Amino acid sequence: MSDTIFGKIIRREIPADIVYEDDLALAFKDINPQAPTHILVIPKKPIPRISDAGSEDQALLGHLLWTVKQVAEKAGLSNGYRVVINNGADGGQTVDHLHLHVLGDRQMKWPPG
Ligand code: 5GP
Repeated sequence: MSDTIFGKIIRREIPADIVYEDDLALAFKDINPQAPTHILVIPKKPIPRISDAGSEDQALLGHLLWTVKQVAEKAGLSNGYRVVINNGADGGQTVDHLHLHVLGDRQMKWPPG
């Protein structure tokens, strides 16, 4: 099983500002925020990237989106927010543990960089 910095956060081996947790998912503030609110939602299962998810992970992937909604509501992002998954090298992924970025409290632009 590959390990990453996010695995260490799940196991409480390194600190993080955790905002939500359940049996399947964890959400914590990004250490280098790209918006006034920047939260990462991750599965506790160490799926490296979305392209590695299997058919058995479908319910878990849905749960992660449901968690995004809960986290965004709790963060008060009533004016909208952006959800981002970077996948692999071209996607700009730097941590090989699937994560959904929740970005809010500023106007987002399109196209993304
Ligand atoms: P990626 O570039 O893989 O899509 O996003 C990885 C994110 O993890 C980055 O936004 C980065 O700031 C964040 N990050 C990396 N290491 C840590 C850490 O140790 N703690 C927290 N809270 N966030 C981290």
